[in-house]
Amino acid sequence: MRRPFIAGNWKMHNTCAESVALVSRLAGMLSGLAGVDVVVAPPFTALTAVTSVIKNSSIALAAQNVFWEEKGAFTGEIAPAMLKDAGCAYVIIGHSERRQYFHETDETVNRRLKTALRASLIPIVCIGETLAEREADKTFGILERQIRFGLIDLSLDEIGKVIIAYEPVWAIGTGRTATPEQAQEVHGFIRKLIAQLFSREIADRMRILYGGSVKPDNIDQLMAQEDIDGALVGGASLKAEDFARIAQFKS
Ligand code: PEP
Repeated sequence: MRRPFIAGNWKMHNTCAESVALVSRLAGMLSGLAGVDVVVAPPFTALTAVTSVIKNSSIALAAQNVFWEEKGAFTGEIAPAMLKDAGCAYVIIGHSERRQYFHETDETVNRRLKTALRASLIPIVCIGETLAEREADKTFGILERQIRFGLIDLSLDEIGKVIIAYEPVWAIGTGRTATPEQAQEVHGFIRKLIAQLFSREIADRMRILYGGSVKPDNIDQLMAQEDIDGALVGGASLKAEDFARIAQFKS
């Protein structure tokens, strides 16, 4: 049985004070919620402040990115140990906005992933096709490449720690969600591929999240799908009521 996982990616939103206010409301709304992992990913500058609010709650902390070196002359980058120090248990890697605007590739995703795992951060690895790729019938080929090369050279033990987020680029921030059936088809494909590349046992245990315009009014149908184990939520995670309802999905 895979434990559901709901994560909110706040992207480049919220000052420290705004982050503290949001997570405090959320912690109040979610107190007593059991059986689901709830995670928020504020901007780097708010991580420490959010940690002190959530330390007595069931909410955990993620960072939105991590660099692949452990320390050194890399101005502007953040090392895995710094994220651990700030209270992060998770880190998002390879979000489509990083791939699109900051030229991340499967190779840099893989390097970040290895460093994160070495530091005992649990990686949430994002994959997904663009609209042009979907329309050209390339969805499964693109996802296979992102998984094969993004996860290359990891031990089975390391693969077993990875969470995958399937986020069709055409559904992110657009209000256009994949239908539950479209998402299930892709999640089923991903699980089968993980079984082929690694092992059936790892595939059965791996949590595969859906991301792309997840809202209170579509989460229940998405979570009812067999291979959808949770959600990575952008816009709707900035509103405490909406994110709390998503975390309290009914399936
Ligand atoms: C995301 O940023 O990962 C995301 C899925 O955004 P949104 O929910 O706004 O589409």
